Amino acid sequence: MIDQAVELIRKSSYSIALTGAGISTPSGIPDFRSHESGLWNNADAMQVASLSGFRYNPLGFYTWIRPFADLIKNALPNPAHFALATLEDLGMLQAVITQNIDMLHVDAGNRNVYEVHGHLRQMTCINCFKEYDSEPILKKFFENKEIEVPRCPACGGALKPNVILFGEQLPMQVFIKAQQAVRHADLVLVAGSSLEVHPVADFPVQVRRQGGRVIIVNNERTVQDDIANVVIRGDVAEILPAIVDKLASE
Ligand SMILES: [Zn+2]
Repeated sequence: MIDQAVELIRKSSYSIALTGAGISTPSGIPDFRSHESGLWNNADAMQVASLSGFRYNPLGFYTWIRPFADLIKNALPNPAHFALATLEDLGMLQAVITQNIDMLHVDAGNRNVYEVHGHLRQMTCINCFKEYDSEPILKKFFENKEIEVPRCPACGGALKPNVILFGEQLPMQVFIKAQQAVRHADLVLVAGSSLEVHPVADFPVQVRRQGGRVIIVNNERTVQDDIANVVIRGDVAEILPAIVDKLASE
């Protein structure tokens, strides 16, 4: 299966990677949409992590997100992230589209990354829409023992990380660029996504419809295994480096 994936990537002229939470679990970040993460054990989580919930109760949001944000703050890219960075360096990967907000693809060295669910790099005031770099703000947030809602220095409004909450539009410019990459793609390598979250989950179907190829690497079955040319079940942090090592040595 690895050899088949290698062959398809070698023959492709415009390949993209589509990644989800599974690529970051080897970095110690749980899939925050899964029940195992513990983040959803609170029945109100859907409300807390929605845009209207944030506006109503930002303290509830920050209390909920703090353990997850703490894991992200300390996480490092794993061999799966580095494999995709190498693939881009080799000229065999044109873009990474990710559902993750942890920024690890950029940390690993990928340059063409579309973070369609947002990221934690910046925060926006929900009152005056001024943007701020997250780093100093989150540093202070984590230093405080008591959880405090970060506030806009200009107007005092609550600052929301630039992550996409439930009920919120995807970031339009990034999403349009991601769609353009999908339109060009003759191969999509899905890694660590169960392909259940739309509209990103539609991308492999679109690539297939264009006559392109689909490779899925995931530790469990996905809803689109049937349309894939190659399905490899297992640990992304082992399989992606194995694929890229073969491509690099050719
Ligand atoms: Zn403001």
